[in-house]
Amino acid sequence: MKSSSFRIVPIRTDIAEAARREAEAGAPDHVLVTADSPRGYPCRHCLRWASPGEAMVLFPFAAIAPGRPYSETGPIFVHAEPCERYAATHEFPSEFRKGRVLRAYNSQHDMIAADLAKGEGPEAVIERFLQKPETAFVHVRSASHGCYTMEVKRI
Ligand SMILES: [Zn+2]
Repeated sequence: MKSSSFRIVPIRTDIAEAARREAEAGAPDHVLVTADSPRGYPCRHCLRWASPGEAMVLFPFAAIAPGRPYSETGPIFVHAEPCERYAATHEFPSEFRKGRVLRAYNSQHDMIAADLAKGEGPEAVIERFLQKPETAFVHVRSASHGCYTMEVKRI
């Protein structure tokens, strides 16, 4: 089997833990919600869909940090209870192979390419982006809602 040239980067555990603490403390921009559908609440830490009934924290995450033209902050979910950070980083998470858009960024954090993962699958799009030397990292987002899902880097 051909090995991948990328690694999946879920959000850091300290970010997920801080979001849980903020929600617990009642921060207005960190809200506890209950998943009510099987494909509506992706956890960016364990990179799984929440099961209906699971408690989630909804909060804003700066996928591209402030201070740049492409700076972007938007809503993401993490499980309200501690979960295990996605560890199979050489594999694209199977639960998010569909309905994603991929964006390539350069080292200045400017978006330099974007494409939907359709027939060829997300791995092929990632490999194609990473073949360009100017690509520093790739972001995966929901094609329908636009929300940030995960980062992908070279190994
Ligand atoms: Zn989780």
